[in-house]
Amino acid sequence: MDASPTQSTWDAIRGKVESGQRLDAAEGEFLFREDVDLHVVGQLANLARRRKNDRLAYYNINAHVNPTNVCIYRCRLCAYSRDPGEPGAYVMSDEDILAQADEAERAGCTELHLVGGLHPDKPFDWYLGIVRRLHAAFPRMSLKAWTAVEIARFAELSGLSVRAVLERLIEAGLACMPGGGAEIFDAGVREQICPRKAGAQTWLDVHRAAHRLGLRTNATMLYGHVETAAQRIDHLLRLRALQDETGGFLAFVPLSFHPEGTILAHLPRTSSFDDLRTVAVSRLMLDNFDHVKAYWISLGLGTAQTALAYGADDLDGTVRQEKIHHEAGATVPEGLSVAQLRRLIEETGHEPVERDTFYRRVLRNAGKWKPEP
Ligand code: SF4
Repeated sequence: MDASPTQSTWDAIRGKVESGQRLDAAEGEFLFREDVDLHVVGQLANLARRRKNDRLAYYNINAHVNPTNVCIYRCRLCAYSRDPGEPGAYVMSDEDILAQADEAERAGCTELHLVGGLHPDKPFDWYLGIVRRLHAAFPRMSLKAWTAVEIARFAELSGLSVRAVLERLIEAGLACMPGGGAEIFDAGVREQICPRKAGAQTWLDVHRAAHRLGLRTNATMLYGHVETAAQRIDHLLRLRALQDETGGFLAFVPLSFHPEGTILAHLPRTSSFDDLRTVAVSRLMLDNFDHVKAYWISLGLGTAQTALAYGADDLDGTVRQEKIHHEAGATVPEGLSVAQLRRLIEETGHEPVERDTFYRRVLRNAGKWKPEP
């Protein structure tokens, strides 16, 4: 690749994107260069986005439940976790979890997003029981639960294989897995930001096992801390390779790092330029992912909205009671109304589409909902 952003480099990349060919690692790194025009990268990403999702922009009506913030790993990137007994540490009771889910169902939620800490005293059965009780009480809500890091820990705790853990969770009512815990796959980066929890290979193996059982999952990348552009591209390429193998990922979610309240608080926040470039490059590199989210809690409302023109096609959801990013200084609200989400989308000229967990259009009538057949 040339040392400067020459016309021939651009022509090669544009030609590949227009003809639907795959970009390689060097081209991805080129697109991350600060002297490469962000708006041109965005235009190319928008081309790829329009090819997959035309002018549709998705959102869902969902809620987050975080049963505990007590966690054995205490990652350096995390502002949310606590030690047992530390001020602010909490463990939700079954009644509180069910009450929060009940409130979500009354608000029309189609999905519950369940993630949290790995409590030193809670066995796998505690986490399994949460899924079982929620599914029994609210069978129509999709339970998107437990990151690959949590699943790997459940396997350690229970002595079961990852596959057996997943089978039990599916039998209890698990519908889908979130994509958290991926951070940046590079081992040297993980050593600096999350040295104790499951590594890249485990994360990928858990998702591979889930996909083989028919469970769809999401994928994330936490960027904007100590990683390089090359390490971001390496991360995206490892996800692309697994998607080639299984086809099990629903969406990719780039998450900007919020340093406030973490051991890495001395690091600056990412700029909107970096956020938009990361969304755009992700869209261009992940040609086998149908959806790229602009998660408004992480990006902020203005950048998330703008990202719809830089490759993203999904703003995520109403969320309600988000805790993890807010502990790290997120200044957005803890939830948005449907009207607010739809307005954010309409202002960009896209068509808002309420989706369920699996990107089926949701049809609502007289307070009832069903996915489009
Ligand atoms: S990032 Fe997740 S695994 Fe790490 S300390 Fe926080 S809750 Fe625990």
